[in-house]
Amino acid sequence: PGIVDEPRGLAAYSANLGWRDVPLRDLLSHRLGAPVALGHDVRTGGLAEGRIGAGRGADRFLFVALGTGIAGAIGMAGRVESGAHGFAGEIGHIVVRPGGTPCPCGQAGCLERYASAAAVGEAWARACGDPDADAAGCARAVTSGDPNAVRIWQGAIDALADGLLTALTLLDPRTLIVGGGLAEAGETLFTPLREAVERRVTFQKLPSIVPAALGDTAGCLGAGLLAWDLLTTTDRTEVTT
Ligand SMILES: [Zn+2]
Repeated sequence: PGIVDEPRGLAAYSANLGWRDVPLRDLLSHRLGAPVALGHDVRTGGLAEGRIGAGRGADRFLFVALGTGIAGAIGMAGRVESGAHGFAGEIGHIVVRPGGTPCPCGQAGCLERYASAAAVGEAWARACGDPDADAAGCARAVTSGDPNAVRIWQGAIDALADGLLTALTLLDPRTLIVGGGLAEAGETLFTPLREAVERRVTFQKLPSIVPAALGDTAGCLGAGLLAWDLLTTTDRTEVTT
């Protein structure tokens, strides 16, 4: 995962770009002559979903993106929590199957090894012997009743519900927003997921579990919101120079 130290404006780590502790906010700000807001992609997308998307108006929400990996954003009181070191919301690395599948993070049995779009796609590709088969294909096979697809899909949902139970026990969100590639399966995902979470809660209050609404534009919209927020905390004359 990429790591952004939001309080210090650092692009702390990016494996893809080869960056470590790049003071991106200040570099850009000097170049542009304007204040710059810097955010982590999933937390920024979560901010947009919480404020103007699927969670609009929710004072406490959890945004979970099921893509290549699984990442999350913890929304509270109009902002997204980044944590002391920029790691808050890494729900994909909650261990749901102790001693299970090794994860690049160094642990074994992490949620994203079971319930990311990539994990479902890989399991489905193995099951049907087609290396190009993906999670969307698995979802289609579920709706037509393929027993292997149903088994893989339900395994992913059970792992996801286990991870989400931990998250909502800690965070008590009002709204749980689920996005990313796997969420594009719509009710094929959401109907059994709601049931699986509901089966697991005991004293916890069930949040409303809703699909993300903003798609690929969430990150850009969230970056706009961060900039907008900056205007309310920055001298406007400084912004217009
Ligand atoms: Zn992990």
